[in-house]
Amino acid sequence: MPEIDARRIEDHLRRPWHRLAFDPELEHAFRASRLAASRRHIIVEIAILATMCLAVAPIDYAEHPAWPLALGLRLGILFPIQLLAIGIACRARSHAALDLAGALSFCVAMAVITLLASTAGGETATRYLTVQGGLILVYGALTGQRPLATLLSIGFAVAAYDGAVIAMAEAGEEGRLPYAAFVTAFSPGFLAVRILLFDRTERTHFLHRQLQACLNRDLTRLTRELATLAGTDPLTGLLNRRGLDAYLGPAWAAAGERCAWIGAALVDIDYFKAFNDAAGHEAGDGCLGAVAGLIRSEIPLGIGRTARLGGEEFVVVLPDTGPERVLEIGERLRDAVERAALPHPGRCAPGHVTVSVGVASTIPCATARPADLLRAADRAVYEAKRQGRNRVSAGLVRDPDVHRADLSAA
Ligand code: GH3
Ligand code: MG
Ligand code: MG
Repeated sequence: MPEIDARRIEDHLRRPWHRLAFDPELEHAFRASRLAASRRHIIVEIAILATMCLAVAPIDYAEHPAWPLALGLRLGILFPIQLLAIGIACRARSHAALDLAGALSFCVAMAVITLLASTAGGETATRYLTVQGGLILVYGALTGQRPLATLLSIGFAVAAYDGAVIAMAEAGEEGRLPYAAFVTAFSPGFLAVRILLFDRTERTHFLHRQLQACLNRDLTRLTRELATLAGTDPLTGLLNRRGLDAYLGPAWAAAGERCAWIGAALVDIDYFKAFNDAAGHEAGDGCLGAVAGLIRSEIPLGIGRTARLGGEEFVVVLPDTGPERVLEIGERLRDAVERAALPHPGRCAPGHVTVSVGVASTIPCATARPADLLRAADRAVYEAKRQGRNRVSAGLVRDPDVHRADLSAA
């Protein structure tokens, strides 16, 4: 179904005349949403009519002077056509087909009863016409699914009925004509009111359901956008710490389940404080953006995610990446920043921006945590700084128990 925005639906709800017929797109959606319910309704309607036609068949045998003809009409034409109408309704893929099924069922039933009445004559004809008038009244009062087809069916049935009544009314006979006039006036009038109210209620329910669906859709979209925003670093457009945690947790768990490698490369800009001190914070921000762009362009799409850990530190998480490959990627990142030769105004720097990279990788074991991987990469960065900066160093993810023993010994 096409996406219909909430404003258009509220517009329809505000203006009552819009609920008589929607704009084409909404009308199409409304009809599509009603198809299954209309089908059920029409099948039940036809089934009731068919059952009634079958149930009263013994009356033909008992009452009709030409009972073989009457039974032939009822069982040989009327009943099979009711079954055919049910078949059409069951297979209907459109409202037009449902209309056809409903109209066929009702019009044929009324035509056959009119024929039965006109071939019976006398008192029996009156009984047939009374039953027929009752059926028209009940149908006019209770149905209301398909406005046009129902009005046409009722129109046809009432015309046939009136024709038969007038043709059979004997001179001086009282009662039959006023009854026919009552059926004629009441059925279409009642039907028109019922259709209007029924249709209006259905349309209002539909609009409320659509509005709810729209609001739910908007809420889901906004929640998703908010989650993306909350996990994004506004300066670089990379993941922030929260986004990193949301990515690393599941990636770590997946690697653990598959006994696969997961690596991390932590990138720290060298002498960045000096950069800020010499060029100012704004230029520093520009430098952070440029380095983030270089890292992003070096990491092939889809193989991992890059985050800004805070300050001038970035981390690339690389699922399915073992020690050799992660070292290679770390070297590529360092080289890319060096080759970009972004000017560094600080006095202690080599004239252009460089980075120190610490890499680590592991196959997650039951006791290790994602933080152990980042800690190992951080230790490796520290080592790269210690060795003179602008280089890559590899760290080991230590067993957390060993690590805790180290800490307590320290
Ligand atoms: P090292 O080579 O050892 O990494 O030295 P460093 O100067 O790069 O590292 P240090 O941790 O001493 O300084 C980091 C600086 O990063 C300090 C702070 O002014 C700067 N910084 C942190 N966040 C931001 C930011 O969002 N924008 C800018 N422009 N600077 C930032
Ligand atoms: Mg740092
Ligand atoms: Mg630094």
